[in-house]
Amino acid sequence: MPGTLWAIAEAGPDGHLTKLSAEVATLVRGLGAAAGRDVAGLVTGTPGAVAAVAAELAAYLPRVVALEAAAAATSPIAQLAAQGAVQAIGADPDASIFIGNSPDGRDTAGFLMAALGVGVISNAGGVAWNGGPVAEKGVFGGRLITTSSFADGHGIVTVPLGSVPAEEAASAGVVETITLAGAAPTVTVLERVSEAAGAVQIEEAKIIVSGGRGVGGPDGFALVGLLAETLGGAVAASRAAVDAGWIPYARQVGQTGKIVKPEVYIALGISGAVQHKVGMQGAHTIVAVNTDPDAPIAEFADLFVVGNLFEVVPALVAELESRKA
Ligand SMILES: Cc1cc2nc3c(=O)[nH]c(=O)nc-3n(C[C@H](O)[C@H](O)[C@H](O)COP(=O)(O)OP(=O)(O)OC[C@H]3O[C@@H](n4cnc5c(N)ncnc54)[C@H](O)[C@@H]3O)c2cc1C
Repeated sequence: MPGTLWAIAEAGPDGHLTKLSAEVATLVRGLGAAAGRDVAGLVTGTPGAVAAVAAELAAYLPRVVALEAAAAATSPIAQLAAQGAVQAIGADPDASIFIGNSPDGRDTAGFLMAALGVGVISNAGGVAWNGGPVAEKGVFGGRLITTSSFADGHGIVTVPLGSVPAEEAASAGVVETITLAGAAPTVTVLERVSEAAGAVQIEEAKIIVSGGRGVGGPDGFALVGLLAETLGGAVAASRAAVDAGWIPYARQVGQTGKIVKPEVYIALGISGAVQHKVGMQGAHTIVAVNTDPDAPIAEFADLFVVGNLFEVVPALVAELESRKA
């Protein structure tokens, strides 16, 4: 049917459908129901490997296209996904395409925008349907919410983590397999660098322990890591800590970092600047430890502990350990 709504999904480093892709697929299914439009998913990968991810995606959508691309082993996946989307979707000029706002998702959206000649609404935290996608997004560090739609009712929307909870459909969909046509991209991936084994990705973590300038240096992050490990959570940071070189950028939360929505976010030595707040305000429960009773984070933390993190954290870890025993 013309005007199909597509979810372009991706596999994570573990080879499984990412949580973000499952959320995007759920969002698209809901929009399809609201719009009375067909919905479908597309996922790209090497022959063999892509079948498993496509099957996972089919838990959320009635129809999934698995794009087999031998070049996925050596080429940027975003470019292949975009080429595949043009192949699968290009003949439907009224299609709307929804993509997770991950690094690869953003690249895919860019390639597709150029290839299909349609507009992109990026990082849309809320998407509804009114004759086409209507997207809400925070701008100016979350101070303003804008509502945008496409002039001709269709386009590409990138969606951040946590827009909707992922929910499988009542029954699994069908998977069609196609092979990427045309030349593979000329760009070759020379090296893939993975984060240390066992490091929990902050986008996926249910518990995040985050350190700021108040942590005082790289050694202070050992304490942040200890609490994260005790709670089975992930370590994150403010930009001040990242800019100081205490922790990699991949761990930064905020306007120029990642948007996270864990169940619990523990901010240690973080003042709560608006650019940090926009990245973590969606956490279910925010706990902050700060020596300054007037730190801005006190205004939006659910539990605000006035204290020195170097005293509070060891005491908290000891208490948690004693309860485990
Ligand atoms: C365009 C732009 C984009 C930005 N993007 C981001 C972003 O993505 N993410 C981000 O985080 N920031 C971002 N920033 C920076 C932001 O404005 C703040 O400068 C930054 O968040 C401050 O980090 P912080 O809270 O760690 O440091 P500070 O603001 O210096 O706060 C440190 C806090 O630690 C407390 N403290 C000190 N010692 C202790 C102790 N022993 N125990 C407990 N508490 C202690 C202090 O009281 C203080 O509140 C951006 C800024 C701009 C202009």
